[in-house]
Amino acid sequence: MSDLDQQCSYCNNSSVIQRKHSGDYLCPKCFEKSIEKIIYKTISKYKMLRPQDKVIVALSGGKDSITLLYNLMKIQERTYRSETLIALTIDEGIKDYSQNNIKLAKRFCKKYNINHEIISFKEKLGKTLDEIIHFKNQSGDYKYACNYCATIKRRLLNEGASELGGTIVAKGHNLTDMAETFLMNILYKRFHLISNQFFFKPEKKQILVKKITPLMRIPEDEILLYVNMKKFDYYSTICPYREKDPIIRKRLLDFIEECKTYSPEIEFNLFKGFLELSRILYKLHNNKSYNSCKTCGYPSGNKKTCSYCDLVKEFTNKT
Ligand code: SF4
Ligand SMILES: [Zn+2]
Ligand SMILES: [Zn+2]
Repeated sequence: MSDLDQQCSYCNNSSVIQRKHSGDYLCPKCFEKSIEKIIYKTISKYKMLRPQDKVIVALSGGKDSITLLYNLMKIQERTYRSETLIALTIDEGIKDYSQNNIKLAKRFCKKYNINHEIISFKEKLGKTLDEIIHFKNQSGDYKYACNYCATIKRRLLNEGASELGGTIVAKGHNLTDMAETFLMNILYKRFHLISNQFFFKPEKKQILVKKITPLMRIPEDEILLYVNMKKFDYYSTICPYREKDPIIRKRLLDFIEECKTYSPEIEFNLFKGFLELSRILYKLHNNKSYNSCKTCGYPSGNKKTCSYCDLVKEFTNKT
């Protein structure tokens, strides 16, 4: 991203960005318009929303979720006129991180008059993520913080959305996240997960609220430019656990960034690969039946209990 002294491909103004994957130059106004158009078109192309939907937006306070919330609010006002959306924040309880995120999320919702709900690890499980990590470290079987955090967050988000009467959970995953996740699932041969992410599958288990990802066709660096242009306040610090743990995701992200310098379309190719493979795998796996957790009823793959219940049982038993 730099001042390119080039004329915008769509008007007479100077450009601020060249989209290397398409070759287009864009001025601030056309860039903002184009981001908003991509979000709108993604929603309509993938039939993500219906007028009667009640949308719960997962709001962390970071750039992606702020962009998502702002655009969904505008789209709903303009087009769908469905029930007012609700922003839902999950407080992990990560020192010096979660509270700062929440502060910004609250401020944003207040400014735009959006209903905002917060659910915390502490309130639901009796422990913050920091306390869970401390406990795991002491018991000597610490893996990576993200393993515990993502499992719990996914569950609290679904439960929270369900309790709020939500029919849709909107998440802020961008194109870079999608490419990274797809590559990760390939590396670990998680074909069932890829198949599960097929966009057009009907939700078999009523217990799961349908998830949508309207930013999935926008690269991370473009979202960053967009929030800065809109002058949105967002939390930009990276989670301390993501920094601390040598998680493969972080390395994959570096790898994708490096590939992009030679081959700018790489994220788009990975995304298209994901769409195609998820469709094929879904058709192949569609008739397979998976277990429901005997404790909570959520899907548990081939196991009798789900990862969330395993985790809860583990640290409630030992304390
Ligand atoms: S980076 Fe990992 S530990 Fe930090 S908030 Fe995200 S999932 Fe949780
Ligand atoms: Zn322009
Ligand atoms: Zn369970």
